[in-house]
Amino acid sequence: MTDNIGQQPWMKTPQVVAVMDALEARGFTGCARFVGGCVRNSLLNRPIEDIDIATTLTPDQITEALQEAGIRAVPTGVEHGTITAVADSQPFEITTLRRDVSTDGRRAVVAFTQDWTEDAQRRDFTLNAVYADRDGTLFDPTGRGIEDGKAGRIVFVGDAMTRIREDYLRILRFFRFQAWYGKGDADEKALAACKALKESLSGRPAERTAKELTKLLAAEEPRPAMALMAQTGVLGTILPCAKDLAAFNQLVEIETDQLFENDPILRLATLIPEDQVGAAQISERLRLSNEVRDRLVAAVGKTPRITSWMSPREIRRAVYAIGLRALTDRVKLAWAKSGRTSVTHQWRGLLALAESWSPPPFPLTGEDVIQSGVPKGPMVGQVLREVEDWWIDHDFIDDKFSAIEKLKAVAQGMAY
Ligand code: ATP
Ligand code: MG
Repeated sequence: MTDNIGQQPWMKTPQVVAVMDALEARGFTGCARFVGGCVRNSLLNRPIEDIDIATTLTPDQITEALQEAGIRAVPTGVEHGTITAVADSQPFEITTLRRDVSTDGRRAVVAFTQDWTEDAQRRDFTLNAVYADRDGTLFDPTGRGIEDGKAGRIVFVGDAMTRIREDYLRILRFFRFQAWYGKGDADEKALAACKALKESLSGRPAERTAKELTKLLAAEEPRPAMALMAQTGVLGTILPCAKDLAAFNQLVEIETDQLFENDPILRLATLIPEDQVGAAQISERLRLSNEVRDRLVAAVGKTPRITSWMSPREIRRAVYAIGLRALTDRVKLAWAKSGRTSVTHQWRGLLALAESWSPPPFPLTGEDVIQSGVPKGPMVGQVLREVEDWWIDHDFIDDKFSAIEKLKAVAQGMAY
């Protein structure tokens, strides 16, 4: 099947032109082609993420070519033949055509080649092994990548079992691409191979596992792929705590229904136990960033208790106690776990209320406490906290005078 995606706008940006010109100046016209996500997504009329380039030039030649053109070359994976070009702060992964010679499922020993078909053979799925020239002419060495892409078939290049044994992370990539691009039933052979070899996933580097899982969770409709992942036992291997998908499915439904933005981290939160220590451990094991860990830990906290019938006052208290982000996360999680849609307006009301309110600053400082006669020291904080509790109980009353009165009463009542 021949096809042409035409010269895409992204092919004409000054950065892309500079990089491709540099490579062709060192090699020859046509020595470099676009490959992977940028070609696949253009073919499917979807926005592209990053631009990957394959070339017959060796890594040394790529580096020379880029230097010659004044483009920064970063050796991000020389042993795999990958150099990252940074043109105007935009990165491009440029990889020498290669074939995998041997592998232990972790790292491949590679040999460079001039043969595009050999390069296609070492790629994961047929829809990811389509190349595009600078004018948009497509090359499809497996003979089915274009067709599979359009039909939403995620099919391993070659024998699924063999390909997974070369790199176990391909199991997760399979579900990720299934979630993003799959249509209809998933490929039986691929599923069977993923199921048979899933145990080997447990020793894989946490960062790569987490990256694939997060990408999968960010798909617009990840439910069918997640269901398959659970059925094959793959989900249980990487996330043993993910016992059922009810809350996950419900959250995706709510997001779709309410036009909330897809939230992969919150989706992940539906799959982990409601226990802050456990959430921290899982984050650690997956080597998630501190920011993501903190968010997950805050999201699964149990106090204050979130219910759809919380009063506006309780909501304000909760926002003050844990912050808007955590409160919003917890409301959405509780909503997803409630399994009831009839109270939609109540949950929405809670969110609207929380978002429209920002906590006023507490009107007193330590200085006010000292002026009321409390000696400097730990007592100051204690008195301040006592008055703050009163202030919260009075719904964040905007009345400094009353706060001072209360402060005096508290200070008098305390023995110091
Ligand atoms: P995205 O749009 O998310 O960037 P992508 O298909 O470009 O998707 P990348 O991870 O950027 O995915 O990889 C680029 C290309 O490199 C893939 O399309 C595929 O051809 C090849 N590739 C990447 N990882 C693997 C792997 N583990 N095994 C085989 N081929 C791979
Ligand atoms: Mg890519």
